[in-house]
Amino acid sequence: MVKLFIANSGILIAGFYLISKFLPYTIHKQSPLHMRLLAGAFCGLLSLVLMFFSIPLEHGVIADLRHIPLVIISYYGGMPSALAAGMMMGAGRFLFGNVSASITSFFISLIIAIGCGLMSRSLKQHLLMTTFWMNVYSMCFISLALFINVRDPDIYIETLFVLWPISIVSTYIAAHICKDIRQSKHLLQHYKTWATTDFLTGLYNVRQFHTLLHENMAQVKKKNGCLSLILFDIDRFKSINDLYGHDGGDIILRELGELVRSITPKHGLAFRNGGEEFSFLLPSCEQGAFQFAEQLRTTIEHHPFLLQKQTVHITISIGISIFPTLAANEADLFKQADIALYEAKKQGRNRTVMYKKEYLHET
Ligand code: GH3
Ligand code: MG
Ligand code: MG
Repeated sequence: MVKLFIANSGILIAGFYLISKFLPYTIHKQSPLHMRLLAGAFCGLLSLVLMFFSIPLEHGVIADLRHIPLVIISYYGGMPSALAAGMMMGAGRFLFGNVSASITSFFISLIIAIGCGLMSRSLKQHLLMTTFWMNVYSMCFISLALFINVRDPDIYIETLFVLWPISIVSTYIAAHICKDIRQSKHLLQHYKTWATTDFLTGLYNVRQFHTLLHENMAQVKKKNGCLSLILFDIDRFKSINDLYGHDGGDIILRELGELVRSITPKHGLAFRNGGEEFSFLLPSCEQGAFQFAEQLRTTIEHHPFLLQKQTVHITISIGISIFPTLAANEADLFKQADIALYEAKKQGRNRTVMYKKEYLHET
């Protein structure tokens, strides 16, 4: 019997690993309801697999670790996940024979689900402690169900003697595995964010600029549309740093990032390319791009930045180039927008310049 329970525990742990790996999100109590129900249903399925490999006791009465997936998912997904898992576990028991044991099991499953769902709300949110007490609660009702259905007292005692410790150890291992997988998923998500966004402004960084420029270029080529690159640089930013210090300059950059984000059009992308140079990629041709750039320039010009209890105003210079009407490829697009930005600085700053061929010879 010990061997069979250990095998059941192995299946449980492998099943948990698979569920945690394949669920697209990490489930928590704020997850959308359908995700919590789906996670509960996955755990219900794992309970069915555990029943398939259950330990036959007598006259079609079986014992296994089917309640543990419910315990773990109740901790993370709360009542909806608990009920989804409990319903599947209870209904699924009828597939394995012995109608009276199945009926008892169905009601016990619901009681376990409701209890674990409630405990997930009321107990302190410590994974190992909460799942331990949920497991103890479930095991009390499972022991009761076995007491009702197992006639032979020796089999009953032996089953409980093996089931209790294996259930406690398996719950502990399953909770640890879930915690580890969730942590690694979480870290992966963080690394992805760190790799693609600028830490100061939260906008996309220069690495992501090149990736998205490449992707958007390919899309625009397919659709025969336009892609505009709007490059801008803060005017005389050095003097802000000189007056308010580097930290003061950072406050301006951070607030500018928020402002830029708030005016980014739905299909546009905003980047901090480095230092005090930013850019937009928009699916627009000359007129649309120029209009947007001017709106951006005047919004920033009139925005009061608050620095050391003083209102500070900044201006920006903007250079624009458009694929395919002005630039023939990615490299040209960037080069031309940069030349146009240089031209805007040269013409006196705080202005928008669309690339023209003649600027090429002036640089
Ligand atoms: P203009 O662009 O109008 O020609 O003048 P500018 O004073 O802005 O000149 P430039 O672009 O050459 O200098 C940019 C300055 O921005 C220099 C640098 O100290 C500052 N800077 C770059 N990155 C950061 C940053 O992350 N934080 C702060 N506070 N300053 C930065
Ligand atoms: Mg500058
Ligand atoms: Mg600069």
